[in-house]
Amino acid sequence: MPELPEVETIRRRLAPVVEGRRITSLAVLDPRWCAPLAPQELADAVEGRRVEALSRRGKWLVFELEDEIFLIMHLRMTGTLLYDPAADQRYQRVTIALDDGHELRFCDPRRFGTGELVAGEEALMAFFAARVGLEPLDGDLDGAALHALTRGRRTPVKAFLLDQRRIAGVGNIYADEALFRAGIHPLRPAGSLKRAQSEALAGSVRDALHAGLEAGGATIDDFRHPDGVRGGFQHEFLVHLREGQECPRCGTTIVKFVAAGRGTYVCERCQPRPRSVRRRPSPALRAGRSGRP
Ligand SMILES: [Zn+2]
Repeated sequence: MPELPEVETIRRRLAPVVEGRRITSLAVLDPRWCAPLAPQELADAVEGRRVEALSRRGKWLVFELEDEIFLIMHLRMTGTLLYDPAADQRYQRVTIALDDGHELRFCDPRRFGTGELVAGEEALMAFFAARVGLEPLDGDLDGAALHALTRGRRTPVKAFLLDQRRIAGVGNIYADEALFRAGIHPLRPAGSLKRAQSEALAGSVRDALHAGLEAGGATIDDFRHPDGVRGGFQHEFLVHLREGQECPRCGTTIVKFVAAGRGTYVCERCQPRPRSVRRRPSPALRAGRSGRP
């Protein structure tokens, strides 16, 4: 799934070619994309309007149109936004025509991507207030902020990082990479992080995201730049998808397990398992043993 660096890569490539342009038509080929809003309602609201800015919040891409109309797109699992693709694309769901003759096409094999419409700055703020937390590359995420957010939280730290309402834009790839860089085990309870670890983790989240951005994002399945080019960050993963390979730091074999419902990659020497996690079997097993802690 595209995470912050992938969405930001798209934004950076598209902003120079869409900002200042007028949307002449928006054709929704798959009504599920904007449901419950009808495709015609969405088209009526955006057609003829100028794109004042293309911005991003977390994993959302925001077309800021004139008169405070906002078209908010989420790519979800497999969405790509292509600029002037050479031929008709498979899985094409939306076509946006611009007044300079160029075209954007949203393609999405799994069809989980969404388009939503919001009117007014206040409604936009409310939309994001309910869905996303700190923006890690805007200077909001430092050690103190992360430490404050994690206090009292027993959630494993990986699940905590994936919660978009706490920190925006971090998904499975960048959570694994950041936890490895910080030397923190993904199953460690978030609230048990020492102050110095919160500092290290905040820094490593930013570092991992920056590294992803510099490589143009990661292409594992479907992610493409607007010109169809793949990202390069998948070649630079330190632990993610590297099960059975050597840790780049210590040479220990990288292991994979499921955490927060996602395939999780760890060097258990660099990221020692917390003792509390080591001793206990999984919660499901524990539930079956009555009378034992
Ligand atoms: Zn290691």
